[in-house]
Amino acid sequence: MSMFCYQCQEAAKGSGCTVKGVCGKTDDVAILQDLLIYLCKELSLLNQENISVRQTDRRVDLFVMKSLFATITNANFHRAAFVARIQQGLELRDALLAENAYPNELTTRMQWTVQSEEEMLAKGGVVGVLSTENEDVRSLRELSIYGLKGLAAYAEHAYNLKFEDQAIFDFMGEVLSKTLNDTLTADELTALVLKTGEFGVKTMALLDEANTTTYGNPEMTSVNIGVGTRPGILISGHDLRDMEDLLKQTQGTGIDVYTHSEMLPANYYPAFKKYDHFIGNYGNAWWKQKEEFESFNGPVLFTTNCIVPPAKSYANRVYTTGEAGFEGFLHIPERGDKEMKDFSAIIEHAKKCAPPTEIETGEIVGGFAHAQVLALADKVVDAVKSGAIRKFVVMAGCDARMKSRNYYTDFAKELPNDTVILTAGCAKFRYNKLKLGDIGGIPRVLDAGQCNDSYSLAIIAMKLQEVFGLADINELPIVYNIAWYEQKAVIVLLALLSLGVKDIHLGPTLPAFLSPNVVNVLVENFGIAGISTVEADLENLIGLA
Ligand code: SF4
Ligand code: SF4
Repeated sequence: MSMFCYQCQEAAKGSGCTVKGVCGKTDDVAILQDLLIYLCKELSLLNQENISVRQTDRRVDLFVMKSLFATITNANFHRAAFVARIQQGLELRDALLAENAYPNELTTRMQWTVQSEEEMLAKGGVVGVLSTENEDVRSLRELSIYGLKGLAAYAEHAYNLKFEDQAIFDFMGEVLSKTLNDTLTADELTALVLKTGEFGVKTMALLDEANTTTYGNPEMTSVNIGVGTRPGILISGHDLRDMEDLLKQTQGTGIDVYTHSEMLPANYYPAFKKYDHFIGNYGNAWWKQKEEFESFNGPVLFTTNCIVPPAKSYANRVYTTGEAGFEGFLHIPERGDKEMKDFSAIIEHAKKCAPPTEIETGEIVGGFAHAQVLALADKVVDAVKSGAIRKFVVMAGCDARMKSRNYYTDFAKELPNDTVILTAGCAKFRYNKLKLGDIGGIPRVLDAGQCNDSYSLAIIAMKLQEVFGLADINELPIVYNIAWYEQKAVIVLLALLSLGVKDIHLGPTLPAFLSPNVVNVLVENFGIAGISTVEADLENLIGLA
């Protein structure tokens, strides 16, 4: 059986990748990922049983979190890594079955096993997405699972900073085990989707607490986008503890550190600003990495997604760590019981490289997470009351390759001067270098940070609701025009829905995994809509001047 994957916005022909992923994921890797997710569902069935009669098994909690994260779009393309993970999962399942007594139906359904890669591919081929025949049930199951993948990624970043919440682990198990339950109705599955959003809020709050407790509150910052004269290391992805380890280990080595794409917001944290060799951000969103890694000249470290299959010319300069992986890239192992990961191989590599080639100069401004915006609250409230700010436009989310995403640059350019863009995630690279000016000292683009920092945007909205004494969050002068690409954006969307936000416009296309009936539910209950032309959407969202 060949692959079928429709988890991201670039799903082939808007319906699903069936031969090879548009992202570069091979047929084999896609099927191995399906088997890994299936194994996580079965392990979760066992763990739900554990929870009801004894303690949850921590080995399962961690295995499930890491596996969900590893299957996110553009995180891990490494076939051998998935084969090893499946073997590890089977060993864990067999250990649980040997250690505990389970009801007969559970032990009976878990008698299957696979030894070789061929057997794994054969099994994976029959337990993937299409094994659920009813398209609405499939849509609701996958909507929950994709949200859960995003949630798992955020939970793992928090876990790396020693912040965790057992209720989040338990919920991951609840969702996964329920997707194996054929007796659940569409209404029950819809409730599960909404509950996934509630746990999305909880998980983003946990990660926010982990990041800000450890590294301080992001603050308004001008980030250098030019280059220095020494060799550098480029770090991408989202993991701030990796960022810290790299900055500490490069100190005094003659090597500079730059962020790329989703790591840009690391520049906003007080704890990282003290490093003189942390120069700034190099380049743009993830999908431009082929040209930008070429001209960077030095090694690149991926702490998470988004990896684009590399050109040969720089492939030997790319390293992965955490859940990221790609065949041929050197993978930096976990910390284990050590305080830091060992990045010495990358540092030695950088010493032999030329400094980055300058591709632009100047600065971009960001750091408007909740604490910074709330510090400016009086100014913001006055500007709204006086009419200087007519509307806030949430343009958070993702960037990606499709030409149709030029819409977001055009939309930002055409917004009237009395509007302010609230953003988070890599969508910002579509407009954060435009000269959009400010309103009485408040920049017209307020970047909260990474996509998980969309939590900050929700906090800001709730604070404004309180200040203006509004009964409903939808009465605020805030409209939503969100771009999505992969599963972290799915959990952000579900989180916003769970907070009661309505009339979100989602583009550039609606997810292929939403069946027509599920789209109808989202339209009727939440007013979800797609995008059309810049002119029509401006009129619809902002109104005529
Ligand atoms: S992640 Fe996206 S591009 Fe990659 S195989 Fe799946 S749907 Fe296709
Ligand atoms: S903003 Fe979107 S594409 Fe970028 S890392 Fe987050 S979810 Fe992925």
